[in-house]
Amino acid sequence: MKPIKRLTGFALYLALCGGLVWGYWAIAYRDALMQLAGTGTVQLEQATDRLLGQLERFRQLPGLLADHPLVARALDPANNPTKTNAFLLHNADLTGASDIYILDQSGTTIASSNANLPRSFMHHNYSFRPYFQDAINGGLGFFHALGASSLQRGFFFAGPIRDANAKPIGVMVVKVDIEALETVWRAEPQILLFHDENGVVFLSNRSGLIFKMYDYDPALQELLNAQRQYPDNGLTPLPAHSETVVFGHRLWQTPDHPIFPQTSLTLTRPVPLIDMTAQIFVNVHDAQKQAQFRAMLAAALIAVVSLTFYALRQRRLRLAERLAIEERANSELEKRVERRTEQLHRAQDDLVQAVKLTALGEMSAGLSHELNQPLAAIQNFAENGKILLQRDRRDEAQENLNQISSLTKRMDRIIQNLRAFARKEDKTVGPVDMIEIIKEAVKLVSIRARNEGVTIKADIGTTPAPVMGGDVRLQQVLINLMSNAMDAMQGQESKTIEIMLEPGPKTTRVSLRDSGPGLNTPDKIFEPFYTTKSVDTGHGLGLGLSISYGIVQSFGGKIKGTNHPYGGAIFTMELQSAQETP
Ligand code: ADP
Repeated sequence: MKPIKRLTGFALYLALCGGLVWGYWAIAYRDALMQLAGTGTVQLEQATDRLLGQLERFRQLPGLLADHPLVARALDPANNPTKTNAFLLHNADLTGASDIYILDQSGTTIASSNANLPRSFMHHNYSFRPYFQDAINGGLGFFHALGASSLQRGFFFAGPIRDANAKPIGVMVVKVDIEALETVWRAEPQILLFHDENGVVFLSNRSGLIFKMYDYDPALQELLNAQRQYPDNGLTPLPAHSETVVFGHRLWQTPDHPIFPQTSLTLTRPVPLIDMTAQIFVNVHDAQKQAQFRAMLAAALIAVVSLTFYALRQRRLRLAERLAIEERANSELEKRVERRTEQLHRAQDDLVQAVKLTALGEMSAGLSHELNQPLAAIQNFAENGKILLQRDRRDEAQENLNQISSLTKRMDRIIQNLRAFARKEDKTVGPVDMIEIIKEAVKLVSIRARNEGVTIKADIGTTPAPVMGGDVRLQQVLINLMSNAMDAMQGQESKTIEIMLEPGPKTTRVSLRDSGPGLNTPDKIFEPFYTTKSVDTGHGLGLGLSISYGIVQSFGGKIKGTNHPYGGAIFTMELQSAQETP
């Protein structure tokens, strides 16, 4: 693979893995946020319900107390409020209200549970409070504000006090201290707050957030100052934050704030009963960490799987490479073996030829004698012929010429044989007649045999014995075996070579037994260069039998040499019988 292609593939794979890890992170983060939102919703509902539950018991209180005779009594300026004050204090203690007090028609406090305390409301005028306006007009008043005298945040529940004609003549007010309510949920780990329609945080389990304002505007502060609901110029903006929506959840980013976490999931819930909105902030840090951890796990898993695949792939590549190298080496080796075999064949051919020529050399003495004899006879016949013609003895001259003719024919036969033997035969293997081959071979060695007094018995009949081979090469083998036998029998009295032929349907056996001393080391004779003959005389090359062995084997046959139990060596050739005659 080209490096650029590989690089692109790798980049694509990395992108795919990155995408997978990101996808896994996103799913994990979404799940964690969903879980947070679920618990956040429950916590918000619980906080709201608890607050409403706490306030509920004060809602009915002004109505219940307004009907009491001590209340009506206090509205008469002629009466001393001491008893009424005590009654109100008793009820405040009983219900847990911070203060209970009675306003006359002008909004001035004429009796109060805190009359004997330094923060007494007595004679203070609260006609500016909306709850007074609502109640004196016959309705139920509800309000939240920072106490004008107590400087404590409170919820104010107000109801009209009516005369016998049901006409409002005063207002009964129950003030509930917010701090007392808040203490219950201070321990909550999540930030909880309630803000009013002006966007001012009025309740929270984090005191640092009280009187913080959403969308703070100084002009609005001016306006609110006039209502005396919040501390004078005491509103401050909520900390700087940015809000995003992730997987459908609102997330607040508040960097480096002592109260708010870096990122929190926020949920809101309107609480119309107290004209406020409840809001919760849940820290998403753990959810982020959890998602990151799971994404990292996925990344590690992908890395492990990728590395395993990579290692396996590398191993496979290395293996393939090694196989390719081995294959190349093998084919190179095969080629070399082929070249060497060819060289060997050539060398063997040359050797065969060399050995043949050696054999020819060996035979040359006998041959020259064999040719000289007829030549001398021809000369004689020719000389005599000339004389006979001169004397006009034509018939006898004719006879001389016939002799000359038959002698030249004999010489021609000898030369033909020699030429055939010296010829480099082609490599073809085909059916050849073993009878003819034995006859020719015997003919070629017959001169030497006669000279050395060797008797060659070849009782082989005349029926063709076709075998698979090449006639010149088989002839060479036979000549070699007979020459070796004659070499071995030199200096002996009786010298016999017996040739036997046993044709069979599958194999044809040719055996050659001599009356010599036998083989010295039968298992070594076919080894190249093994000879017991003197090298100096040019006789012993030690190649004759090894070449014969190679020749017979190349015809699919076998040759072996052993000692005959009754003396002498016996060589046996087994050749494949041919189905057709040549
Ligand atoms: P060379 O004839 O050049 O020695 P050969 O391969 O033809 O080589 O023969 C190898 C050896 O085998 C001979 O030297 C001889 O010792 C032995 N040998 C071959 N034929 C005969 C045999 N008929 N009788 C005894 N020994 C033989």
